[in-house]
Amino acid sequence: MLDPLFSWLLLLLGVVLGWALARRHSVTATASGSEGYTGAQLGGLLNQLVSDDPDQAIAALMAAAEFDSGTAELHLTLGKMFRKRGEMDRALRIHEALTQRENLPAALRTEAEFELAVDYMVAGVLDHAEQLFEQLAARGVNVAESLDAIRTIHEQARDWQLAIDAAQRLQSVKGESQRQTIAQYHCELADEARRAKQPDVAIRQVRAALDQDSHCVRALLLQGQLLEAQADFSGAAKAYLRAFEYDPRFLPDVIEPLQRCFAQTRDKERYLLFLSDAKEISSSSLPFVAEARLLSETGVNPMDHLAQGLEQRPSRAVLADFLDVLERQPDVVAAGLDKPAASLRKALLKLMESTPRYQCSNCGFSPRQMFWQCPGCKKWGTTAPADDVLR
Ligand SMILES: [Zn+2]
Repeated sequence: MLDPLFSWLLLLLGVVLGWALARRHSVTATASGSEGYTGAQLGGLLNQLVSDDPDQAIAALMAAAEFDSGTAELHLTLGKMFRKRGEMDRALRIHEALTQRENLPAALRTEAEFELAVDYMVAGVLDHAEQLFEQLAARGVNVAESLDAIRTIHEQARDWQLAIDAAQRLQSVKGESQRQTIAQYHCELADEARRAKQPDVAIRQVRAALDQDSHCVRALLLQGQLLEAQADFSGAAKAYLRAFEYDPRFLPDVIEPLQRCFAQTRDKERYLLFLSDAKEISSSSLPFVAEARLLSETGVNPMDHLAQGLEQRPSRAVLADFLDVLERQPDVVAAGLDKPAASLRKALLKLMESTPRYQCSNCGFSPRQMFWQCPGCKKWGTTAPADDVLR
């Protein structure tokens, strides 16, 4: 494999040589105009790049008295390459100097300004980046890209209302729906209000989220939690059921809340109906576990039911409950097998603790905790509880 530094130098050489050849061709073709760099200057520039002295090379680029579109394109390419390598100081220096050139053609100036704004964003100088992107959008340049960048900046700053405004502007310019993302921003505001103990504001934000995206599972789960906290158990159950209907992968998030809500409304029949539907719709073993707990509460030994669950939907959750019941069976205790069963169950619980519980359907990232915006691919609403079936 090539040494990374060597590859980088080769890449730089390629850029400069490509530019020099194109330039030579253009000079020969027109047989007029300025040549920008002389052969000696170009040789010096190459020397600096080869001797890994990019700062000297940048200084040589800046000092070029003659400047035309070919030179500007070389600057732009080098600037982008430095940014890609994470060398933000150098990228910024090149793009800043380029925007200050007086004789730069308008299209290239705009391109340089856009690249400079991207540099600021990557470097985390968000206010400068936002200002530049706003100027570009106002001038009708790279409008969709600039508005998308502004949306991302507000997202990074967790300024959700401004992110909503930018996404709405982007939607009208691009003609592409941003409603699912806007719904997530309203959910962020609802979550903030809930933490600040402002339930009315939170409920309003949840409604705004559902106005944008009626199938937003996150908004429905939040609505369930908020209504449950206000003792509206029937409204909460409705919200949890809709969340499950729209995405059955969220069964682990609704099964216990629904059990609580239906217990409050004394509607055991509806809870049993939900568990029976859940067995049909979802591949999860959790309905078996829940049914076994109900049997236990009514004094029936849930052993057979858990064994049936284990056969039909083998999973860590049903196995853990099965072992829990097994270690308390009188004949198991009499045979002295209760302690080994308990050890096995404890080992299984430890394994469950270290197993990823969620997965992003877009990039496959598997976190232990839920993220509504995937930390891997930055997509919203692509992460859901992972299947815990034993294979
Ligand atoms: Zn992802």
